[in-house]
Amino acid sequence: MVRKILDTLLKIFENNKSILKEKGWIVSSETSYEWWDGLKSAEEIIISAILVQMSRWEIVKSKVEEMRSKGLTDFYKLCNTTEQELYDVLKGINFYKTKVKRLINLSKIIINLGSVEKFYNRNLLLSIDGIGEETADSILLFAGHKPNFPPSEYGKRVLSRVLGISIKKKNEVKRLVEENLERNVYEYKLLHAGIVTVGRAFCFIENPKCEDCILKKVCKYYRENSS
Ligand code: SF4
Repeated sequence: MVRKILDTLLKIFENNKSILKEKGWIVSSETSYEWWDGLKSAEEIIISAILVQMSRWEIVKSKVEEMRSKGLTDFYKLCNTTEQELYDVLKGINFYKTKVKRLINLSKIIINLGSVEKFYNRNLLLSIDGIGEETADSILLFAGHKPNFPPSEYGKRVLSRVLGISIKKKNEVKRLVEENLERNVYEYKLLHAGIVTVGRAFCFIENPKCEDCILKKVCKYYRENSS
């Protein structure tokens, strides 16, 4: 049953790419970096994944573009940049001083590893300051193209309501998806992008906008609460 509904969600998201795009998700090929609002490289996604924590995506995107224009999305250049130089660029992002330290630390780790490919190791990622499970799996999936589904609050809420079950922890979302879908990078990216879009656009904690929601035809919560 779960598998069938997840397949249906994938079809709905595939047919509503324009709505996903409005929320910053560009549905593209399995190995494209553009899923994250048109970003250009694995490095930009890794940097964004750190910067976006507790911050608005619009600000983060403009800061990453500024870093790109200064060559700072290159990890060699980033690890040789002073904290003050990065403060000047990233001021305006929440907790920017902490994030600057994290970015410099992270760029040193990648340079010492010798390649970004070696960085795509979940245990390694989780051992780094500032990287939790959602960030680690987002990096693995969207920068590394590895089939790891990111656990998220949106996933917890949207899938709880659609499936009519109580998902208490973000990790249960990850388990549920990975146990029911093939380990397919494109499908994981599409499902995550679609769920986050629905969470941001319709499935609010209070007063969800079910009448406008692209998932209402398959949503148990909607069926049980619409008159
Ligand atoms: S129909 Fe309503 S409850 Fe269901 S996913 Fe959409 S907004 Fe959430």
